[in-house]
Amino acid sequence: MAARIIDGKAVAAAVRERVAGEVAELGERGIVPGLATVLVGDDPASAVYVRMKREDCAQVGIESFHHAPGGDIAQEDLAALISELNADPRVHGILLQLPLPGQLDQDTLIPLIDRVKDVDGLTPANAGLLAQGRPEALVPCTPAGVMELLDHAGVELSGARVAVLGRSILVGKPVAALLLAADATVTHCHSRTRDLAAVCRESDVVVAAVGRPGTVTADMVREGAVVIDVGTNRTDDGLVGDVDYEPVAERAAAITPVPGGVGPMTRAMLLVNTVRAARLQHGA
Ligand code: NAP
Repeated sequence: MAARIIDGKAVAAAVRERVAGEVAELGERGIVPGLATVLVGDDPASAVYVRMKREDCAQVGIESFHHAPGGDIAQEDLAALISELNADPRVHGILLQLPLPGQLDQDTLIPLIDRVKDVDGLTPANAGLLAQGRPEALVPCTPAGVMELLDHAGVELSGARVAVLGRSILVGKPVAALLLAADATVTHCHSRTRDLAAVCRESDVVVAAVGRPGTVTADMVREGAVVIDVGTNRTDDGLVGDVDYEPVAERAAAITPVPGGVGPMTRAMLLVNTVRAARLQHGA
């Protein structure tokens, strides 16, 4: 049986439409959600990502404020810019595009972002709230997108056995925390996990966020499992995920493709987070 393909582009389009409705409703109350984008230096890939994020904002009516300091900016000057944006009432979300040039210490700079403006969910304050299962946490966009896809696919998470592959701050840890909060039984795997195949085979849902093509093969997946592939790997064959897509799709009940699965959701969830941040700041 071939798997149902979970179409991230379609779900992301529905999310954007929902956000546009919320922005219009907030506008009637005099609130215009605003996102500040900070792009340090001239990394071409980062420039493309930021441009796309600003276009997404424009499409749903979120105002964006762009800052592009030179790549040689000093740590204290970038810290001062973050303080300015924290104090600016038009700015509800601050997106500091990563990676930063080598002279800048992101572990010192990210915590300076006001937690209610932290639309990437990367401050220790939001990570702590998420770890405590507190609903007011702003959650990183990719993990939030994974949850939205699972919800859209009608996956019953309560009591389900879920294997999360990867334990980064950006993806693996927050996705595991969200799944736990949704009452899943989570097995959190990483590069030292013994017998990853056995863990995956026992799981109803597999979320792969590793960054290595072919990590999840068909023999590792139960018949009827749901497979979410977060991996984004550039190869000679183009963009591929962590999952051996065709053979796994033969066994799984539902699967996300790469591209067109989790990727579009990451962009859409930034818009959701910006509106959430505006609501938090206005008590709306
Ligand atoms: P990362 O920081 O490099 O983390 C990779 C994780 O995978 C680590 O926890 C590592 O374990 C684990 N790992 C490595 N080899 C493994 C193995 N053989 N078995 C099980 N776990 C293994 O990467 P990341 O930032 O989380 O990103 C993961 C992937 O998602 C990348 O391909 C990235 O491009 C992609 N991504 C996609 C989106 C999107 O929008 N679609 C967004 C963000 C990231 P250790 O901790 O033990 O080293």
